Amino acid sequence: MSKKKSTSKKAAPARGKPASRPVVKKPAKAPAKKPAPKKPVKKAAKPASPAKKPAPVKKAPKTAPKKAAPAKKAAPPVKAVKTAPPPKKPTAPAKAPVAVKPAALVKPAPVKAPPPAPAPPPPAPVVPAPALAPRPAPPPRPEPVIAKKTPSAPAPGPTKTGALFYDSHMHTPLCKHAWGEPEEYAKQAIKAGLKGIIFTCHCPMPGGFWPTVRMAESEFDTYVALVQRAAAAYKGKLHVCLGLESEYFPGYEDYLRELHARADFDYILGGVHWQAGEYRNKFESGTIENFRRIYFDHLAKSAETGLYDCLAHPDLVKNYHPDSWCFAIVKNTAATALDRIAATGVAMELNTSGLNKSYHEMNPGEEMLRMMAERKIPVVIGSDAHKPERVGEHFVNALIQLTNAGYEHVSYFQKRQRIDLKITDVLTSLKKATDHNA
Ligand SMILES: [Zn+2]
Ligand SMILES: [Zn+2]
Repeated sequence: MSKKKSTSKKAAPARGKPASRPVVKKPAKAPAKKPAPKKPVKKAAKPASPAKKPAPVKKAPKTAPKKAAPAKKAAPPVKAVKTAPPPKKPTAPAKAPVAVKPAALVKPAPVKAPPPAPAPPPPAPVVPAPALAPRPAPPPRPEPVIAKKTPSAPAPGPTKTGALFYDSHMHTPLCKHAWGEPEEYAKQAIKAGLKGIIFTCHCPMPGGFWPTVRMAESEFDTYVALVQRAAAAYKGKLHVCLGLESEYFPGYEDYLRELHARADFDYILGGVHWQAGEYRNKFESGTIENFRRIYFDHLAKSAETGLYDCLAHPDLVKNYHPDSWCFAIVKNTAATALDRIAATGVAMELNTSGLNKSYHEMNPGEEMLRMMAERKIPVVIGSDAHKPERVGEHFVNALIQLTNAGYEHVSYFQKRQRIDLKITDVLTSLKKATDHNA
């Protein structure tokens, strides 16, 4: 916690330069009537419709760019389908072919006498109880909530160059605050010793929600095609996958659910962005601490919606008044949020771009990472690259932090299913593939 803090005084918008400071755009007449506090997971009645009726998500545009995948029809998220491999049928221990003995020799099976009753155990030596003063019972320690077991898919092996791991968080210029073609990100990923990358542009949102950092709704198919273009260009060299950084904001759940079904995503990364003008307008009241507590509650809520595979940069709110950030103050709130997240089985991200933000530390910081490890919450690493050179940045450092926090595995997603790898294998692979490609 004694991390050095930045000297910058303001809550700089986390995302680099674009003074996309939550321009308090007309609060996007958004979630007009307060989104009824409904149960998150429940399908729920229509949420207080965000802004004018969230344009019904059209499936596949008529002029779908040739490559755009025919939006998979609301296929149920793969995650939900627990297709645990059918248990291997224990083929009845093929009875060894019994040599048939001539009848005369066949003795009637001996009637098994019941086994002799086991000798009664020797009486336990009577140990005179030490005369101890009765101790007061220790205060009941709440059992840590352990992450719900979600099935992980079998891990594919390394490539010929030894590459094994993925960078699962990066953007394209469609986000309006990222630079470089997807192919340039791919090129850097190979240099960094990675096997694959997952693009996670900020999702479109209806009603003009924080429009300066995201693709327009009309650009969704362009995004899918852009990633597919890079995937085709790097086929056989790097696995380029489609993901989405999907904004969590109460009231937009139904819109997002439909959006997530519009393409064949490998990974849906949930993001609570306190910097959004809409977010601050609605929740920034009271003290700074109160705002931070609301953020952690939303983090847990986002996991409980069932919309996401993983939660992005889970302590991003430390960049809100970074000079006064003190994890100890919100630790209890964070612990409660982590218990709730663990109960959902949703993964959390270790985002290395935090080192470049106003509070110089990965997201989350070390203490929170340890608390995640205690709850066995799976972790995915992402660089959150907004320019090609950042792909795979600080990954070795991140893996070491994970190990220090108590983790032995690290994860990534494919077809919305988690894949776990041993951290030691990933470290070896990064070195091997980097050397190979040097
Ligand atoms: Zn983000
Ligand atoms: Zn991002």
